Amino acid sequence: MINIAIDGPSGAGKSTVAKALAKELHFVYVDTGAMYRAIGLYVRNHGIAKDDTDAVIAALEHISVALDYAEDGSQLVLLNGVNVSAAIRENEISLYASTVSKIPAVRARLLTLQREMAASHNVIMDGRDIGTVVLPDAQLKVFLFASPEARADRRTKELLEKGQQVDYQTILAEINARDEQDRTRAVSPAIPADDAVMLDNSALDIAGTVAAIRGLLTERNLI
Ligand code: C5P
Repeated sequence: MINIAIDGPSGAGKSTVAKALAKELHFVYVDTGAMYRAIGLYVRNHGIAKDDTDAVIAALEHISVALDYAEDGSQLVLLNGVNVSAAIRENEISLYASTVSKIPAVRARLLTLQREMAASHNVIMDGRDIGTVVLPDAQLKVFLFASPEARADRRTKELLEKGQQVDYQTILAEINARDEQDRTRAVSPAIPADDAVMLDNSALDIAGTVAAIRGLLTERNLI
């Protein structure tokens, strides 16, 4: 199986780029952030405080996260059998996901599912710890990043397009807070693998970023 890992901070365009490449190459796209968001959504919907670690761990017993794929190849996330793919994109769920993802038991739960997907399919998997922890043997690891300002700008536009009421300064502050939390956590911090290719796309659009990764795949004779 060919496994491609794309890691990096939020708003770097990982999911858009990974989705486009997966479609082009007929690979399965695995959005691991969506799985953490599903757990975050459960926690929020059940009135559990996101930093109440014991309560989140106890809740895991009642949570099942699964992936499904729509006819057009897009990933669907099922939380206890219910398609929550839209609900997990609420802005508030980002911080819930980031906070619960610090808990080792939460990560362990999702790791198995992520590795099973990669063992049985050619995948492009995006997240924070794919190259370092989930798929250390991936044939290509890319760490995609951009300045916080460029990422906040993209994310504000994306959420406004979805009809969510947000402003740039708030999003920038949230991005910085989430980056800090993701980067400094004890377990699986969001840092590049030693053998990851660093790709700064502050000045690249989606097509340019896709082309850069396609070039890396060609160079390595993976496509
Ligand atoms: O990628 P996305 O922004 O949807 O991820 C939401 C949160 O889930 C991230 O801020 C991060 O804390 C967590 N996450 C993670 N490991 C991954 C993917 C996401 O800890 N592989």
